[in-house]
Amino acid sequence: MDDVICSLPCGFPTTYKILKNHQDGEKCWACMSHELKIDDCLKMPFNQMNLKRKQFDTDIEIFTKRKKYFDSTEPDKFIDENVKKLKNDLDTRRDELKSSLIKKIDDQYLNLWLKIQEDFADKKSEFNQNKKLLEDFDINLKNSTPNKHQSNYETQMNYLKESIQEIQENIGLIEKSISSIKNHSLNFIFNENDLDMNLIFGKVRKTVTFRLWVEEFSMCMKMGHKIINQFPTIVHNLEWKIRTKKEEKNGFEFLGVYVQCNPRYMSNSWSIKVKGELRLLHRTSAERNICKKLEFVFNQNNRTCGFNDFISLKGVLDAKNGFYDTQLDRVRLEAFIDADEPEQVV
Ligand SMILES: [Zn+2]
Repeated sequence: MDDVICSLPCGFPTTYKILKNHQDGEKCWACMSHELKIDDCLKMPFNQMNLKRKQFDTDIEIFTKRKKYFDSTEPDKFIDENVKKLKNDLDTRRDELKSSLIKKIDDQYLNLWLKIQEDFADKKSEFNQNKKLLEDFDINLKNSTPNKHQSNYETQMNYLKESIQEIQENIGLIEKSISSIKNHSLNFIFNENDLDMNLIFGKVRKTVTFRLWVEEFSMCMKMGHKIINQFPTIVHNLEWKIRTKKEEKNGFEFLGVYVQCNPRYMSNSWSIKVKGELRLLHRTSAERNICKKLEFVFNQNNRTCGFNDFISLKGVLDAKNGFYDTQLDRVRLEAFIDADEPEQVV
């Protein structure tokens, strides 16, 4: 784009590159007789035509190149890779879950069996304690019967009353002990809940990663242009785009980065829960990407989520940081979206 010939309002020729390196309000460097308005100048029919022609040529070139790549692309290669990874994940999960479930089942079995044994041991010990009490009482009873002929009436009556009460209490203890050991039972309750394998095993979800290449980055930032994906990425019948723009906050300039979500078809009421990430891609090392997590519910009233201070503009433009490609005047943004099934998208 830089080498496109443009015309100044005064008729002097220049190039797009020279033009965009000047500021609004400056005196025209060619004729020194009028002020520059870059946007107005770019909108002049001659310049529009040249820029469009250039874009046409560039697009044809890109199309031809990409078409060649497209033709050489073996879909099976990408699909196979993906399928292989998924198969591997499933196999791993199956083995993991099997051994973990078997262990949990065995643990539960053992746990219940110990509980049963403990419970019956308690009952048996209670029974034996009562047996001991009854033995003692029995021996006492036999040894303590007073001599009928030596005691007076009152003593005998008192003795009999007390003894009858004690004997009845012990009869009660006998009945209680027998009934307690005979009727004691534990029951095993079958849990008839079906195992929800979606919860236990896991499920397959659609996640998607897409990018926005911001060309002519310095110019776009200078002009305050909003840059957005030309073509949306479709997930769950919703259209997803990355949007970026220069933002100002507390007197500092930032790069604002957002994800935008719109239904593909007209819909009055919809919502979708998303976890994801916005990334500013490092030119050479993925480990040095700047990543910011998203967790958001998009709906008809909230269609944009992101950061108005993703990174300071100075930080991006400083080529040393490795995000800005000075030669191509480009930065690359990426969004990762992991979305639940939407609700009520018509
Ligand atoms: Zn001029």
